[in-house]
Amino acid sequence: MRKIGVMGGTFDPIHVGHLMLAEWAADAADLDQVWFIPTGRSYMKNDREILPGRERLRMTELAVAGNSRLKCLDLEIERGGYTYSYETMEQLKAQYPSDTFYFIEGADCLLTMENWKCPERLLASCTVLAAMRDGASREQLEEKRAELLEKFGGDIRLISFPQLDISSTGIREMLRKGASVRYMIPDSVRTYIEEKGFYRE
Ligand code: ATP
Ligand code: MG
Repeated sequence: MRKIGVMGGTFDPIHVGHLMLAEWAADAADLDQVWFIPTGRSYMKNDREILPGRERLRMTELAVAGNSRLKCLDLEIERGGYTYSYETMEQLKAQYPSDTFYFIEGADCLLTMENWKCPERLLASCTVLAAMRDGASREQLEEKRAELLEKFGGDIRLISFPQLDISSTGIREMLRKGASVRYMIPDSVRTYIEEKGFYRE
């Protein structure tokens, strides 16, 4: 039986925060693999243009290449339309019945999870591994964790993670201004973005 972590995200673009989070979660929960699954269209991100799914998928593939513990799946992008995490986790569980799944997320996601579609179904299909982000305090996360468990049941674990002030939003902003994002995203991804001229003014 494998233990598989799932990193969902827009990955517009993927950055070292995502990659480190996958590694830290894998160590914390003794995961065999972490699968990166770029979202199709996220209903949470309707307010801005995001790069087409195949481009975000390509950047994610480049980012995980060379790390045998990390993989990239196109299932949300292939599914098209809006994608919901609970559907993805239920699909994976049905497809790989002998594996156990872990949903990996940053604090911002844990704090809004009750507003997601069918959180009870997400929590029924996997264990959630949540990490610090954006100065959310341990107490705040503990409180939210207790609240979610009381409301929906399931298994939510807080994992330690260093506070990294890095986000795709910040990186897009820097690229727009022509600032260097070297070491914030893998070189292969940075080169691809430059070649394609993504995120420029
Ligand atoms: P955006 O700014 O466009 O929202 P993002 O950097 O938040 O991008 P997402 O693709 O939205 O990246 O996030 C995917 C997952 O990675 C989420 O669970 C998010 O909480 C987590 N994550 C992203 N950056 C960090 C970080 N610096 N520390 C911890 N978790 C992070
Ligand atoms: Mg985000």
